Amino acid sequence: MASFDSLGLIPQLLTAVQKKGYKAPTPIQAKAIPSILSGRDVIGGAQTGTGKTAAFVLPILQQLFQNRTKERAPRALILAPTRELAAQVERFVVDYGKGLGVYSCAIYGGVKMGPQVSLLRRGVGIVVATPGRLLDHAQGGTIKLSSVETFVLDEADRMLDMGFMPDIRKIIALLPESRQNLLFSATYSDEIRRLSKKLLDDPEKIEVARRNMAAEQVRQIVHPVEQSRKRELLVELIESGDWNQVLIFARTRHGAEKLSRYLSKAGVDAVAIHGDKSQGQRTRALDRFKKGSVRVLVATDVASRGLDIRQLPRVVNYELPDVAEDYVHRIGRTGRAEEKGDAHSLVCKAERNKLAAVEELLGKKIERSEITGFEGESIEQGFSSQKGRTRQRSRSRSGRAAPRTRSKPERGTRSRPERGRRDSNRKRVESSRTTKEESESKVQRVRKKSKREFDIKKKTARGPKKARPGETQEARRERKPKWSTARKKAAKGKKVSQGSRVKRKAPR
Ligand code: AMP
Repeated sequence: MASFDSLGLIPQLLTAVQKKGYKAPTPIQAKAIPSILSGRDVIGGAQTGTGKTAAFVLPILQQLFQNRTKERAPRALILAPTRELAAQVERFVVDYGKGLGVYSCAIYGGVKMGPQVSLLRRGVGIVVATPGRLLDHAQGGTIKLSSVETFVLDEADRMLDMGFMPDIRKIIALLPESRQNLLFSATYSDEIRRLSKKLLDDPEKIEVARRNMAAEQVRQIVHPVEQSRKRELLVELIESGDWNQVLIFARTRHGAEKLSRYLSKAGVDAVAIHGDKSQGQRTRALDRFKKGSVRVLVATDVASRGLDIRQLPRVVNYELPDVAEDYVHRIGRTGRAEEKGDAHSLVCKAERNKLAAVEELLGKKIERSEITGFEGESIEQGFSSQKGRTRQRSRSRSGRAAPRTRSKPERGTRSRPERGRRDSNRKRVESSRTTKEESESKVQRVRKKSKREFDIKKKTARGPKKARPGETQEARRERKPKWSTARKKAAKGKKVSQGSRVKRKAPR
């Protein structure tokens, strides 16, 4: 097994990792640190939580420390997809770089620009930024990127998912031509491959885990459950399992907020972090969760990205993500740096396809575990599409199986009364279809009628009489308006309706 001493790190950094309690470098650190120190471009495909931050932060700190200059503009730029990740990476920079005299700052949106501007003015060696706010500074002239020697794209796959590609292009255009580039991505897609071809020059390819593989030390379990009963099941799992720290993923901001409120009402202390919360609220919620003063953190994918909570024992997918790769990112929040962890997914029938996509990505089937009292949801693929399938027994809320439903008899064995019932069903369907057609044609008739009336009104509208060639004003006024056929018809109709009204009035 490699040791930190063999990687070529300076004593100050060796002390820093020791202080952090790291006994040996993780596989990505063992491979990436020497390559980065040698000045090569690197593309790192690593599982989340494998220690990749230290893999690029340690050698960058060392390079800047060893080649100190008087430059006040940043010499290393690290781009991260979210505020939380940017803040977290910068915290690592501070922790590892204590005593080196290499300054850093985190630049992200949702907070005031002022403090960031003053930090930049004082001079920083390493900037960790999210793309949008960095561009704001660049456009405002508060940051100069022309001295960047090392450029890092962290969680590049996620950045592309979040639509940061145009911003990344703009940022790259502001960097000097000659620089070292490092790209880290938990998953690989064709887009990532294209980006790396453009960005990297003869890179060292480091892959420490199988592509798109989830952290192996994470135990994954799927709990089939009806959509409407997910909340109940969640409370049951938390209470019966005595879960004290659990990160729950919801698909939408609204969903996350609603769920955290439900849990709090049910007596499970919960907070939510999502895009609608201010940066202050997000940071406070995260701190409370990390300290253990709140049991549950409900988060959306974007907000949760990059959360590093040491020894997080458990994550729950309250809903499966729309993009299968996000599942890998989510469960990577637990089982970090060789720790063990559990990832529970509550899956309903409507999420069958998402589950299949996740399992295809993982290349394996996830273990199923039905919880007593919540059984009966059929989540297996192709279940509903198979012809002549037999229904699974549904269960009542109490958990007892409902009476067995009659399975479909084989062809030709259907008894007469059954056939009769089927025929009457068909008739009902047909008759409902006829009423639908009828109602449609009725609507069309009404539409046609009103259009006709509208046309007539348009034609009969009195427009100004046009003067004929050589006609005097007087003669024009005298002249009768020309009666079109439509007008005549309309006038006739008016008379008839007036007549009928009179007739109706007469008996009174
Ligand atoms: P990362 O993948 O960079 O987000 O790191 C995940 C976690 O692993 C962080 O909490 C690090 O402090 C921790 N870590 C990084 N390197 C090591 C190491 N060599 N040994 C133990 N833990 C580590």
